[in-house]
Amino acid sequence: MNVSDPRVAIVTGASSGIGKETALELSRRGYAVVLAARRADRLREVAAQCQAAGCPAVLPVPTDVAHQPQVQALVEQTLNRFGRIDVMVNNAGYGLFDMVHQTDDEQMRRIFDVNFFGVFHGCKAVAPVMIAQQSGHIFNVSSVIGRRGTPFHGAYCATKFAVIGLTDAMRVEMKRCGVRVTAVLPALTETEFFDQSIRGRAVGSSFRNFKGFTPPAAVARRIVGTIGKNKPELVFTFGGKLLTLLAAISPRLTDRMMQYYFRDLAKRMGL
Ligand code: NAP
Repeated sequence: MNVSDPRVAIVTGASSGIGKETALELSRRGYAVVLAARRADRLREVAAQCQAAGCPAVLPVPTDVAHQPQVQALVEQTLNRFGRIDVMVNNAGYGLFDMVHQTDDEQMRRIFDVNFFGVFHGCKAVAPVMIAQQSGHIFNVSSVIGRRGTPFHGAYCATKFAVIGLTDAMRVEMKRCGVRVTAVLPALTETEFFDQSIRGRAVGSSFRNFKGFTPPAAVARRIVGTIGKNKPELVFTFGGKLLTLLAAISPRLTDRMMQYYFRDLAKRMGL
C-alpha cells in the first residue's frame, strides 16, 4: 500500500439508518467506502452524500447479503479497486415481529439467512484478506436484545444471539492475526427498521412513546471511533446496559419486567 492511499471500509446495509450514517462518518474521516445493500438507487444517493462529506473514493455495490456469492463478489470488487480492506461493518438486517409459536417457518429461515448468514458470509469473505494483511477490524451489528429475548421478537432475537456467539468466538481466533472483532449492540435507534411490516410499525409507534431513541449517527460515531481499539462489544444507552446486566444476573426479575412489556404491547397490537 502507498502511504497516501486511503484506508478502506465496507459497510453492509448502507442504504439506510445505521449503515448509511456509518458510511458518512467513515467518509468524514477520510476512508474510501464500499456501500452494500439491495436498493441500487438508494446506494447511489448515499454515495453522492459520502462524496459531499469528503470521501476520497466511494464504490456502491448492490448486494444481497443472504447470498454468499454476492458477498464474495463484494469483497473481490473491493480488492480489485482498492487492493486492501481495513474495516468490515456487517450491519445489514431487519426485524420480524410475531410470537414464537405463530412464526412462519419460512420467515424464520429468511431472517436467519439475512441477519445471521449475512454476517457469517461477510466475516468469512474478509477474514483471509485481513489475515494476509495482519490487520483489520470487523464489526458485527447485533442488538441489545441479542442478550435477552423479548416478547414478539423471538425470531429476531435468535438471529442476534447467534451473531454475538459467532463474534465472540471469532474475536479470540483472530487476535493472533492482528484482526479485531467487535459486536455492536444498539438499543432502540431512530431508523427505518420499524417500517418493515404493519406489526413492526405498531411496535415502533408504541416504542416511540418511550423517550430515548438513539440517533443512528450516534451509533455510527461509536463504531468508527472504535476502529483499531480492542473493544469486545459496544452497548448503547443506560437502558441497554441495564438490560444486559439484569439478564445476566437475574433472569427471573427480567422475566417479570418483560411480562409488563408483553401485556402492554399485546394490548397496543390488539392481541
Ligand atoms: P434500516 O434503516 O431498516 O436499515 C437496514 C439496512 O439493511 C438497509 O440498508 C437495508 O437495505 C439492509 N438490508 C436488509 N436486508 C438486506 C439484505 N438481504 N442484503 C443487504 N442489505 C440488506 O435499519 P437499521 O436500524 O439501520 O438496522 C441496521 C442494523 O441495526 C440491523 O442489523 C438491525 O437489526 C440493527 N439494530 C437496529 C436497531 C433499531 O432500533 N433500529 C436496534 C438494534 C439493532 P436494502 O433494503 O436496500 O437492502
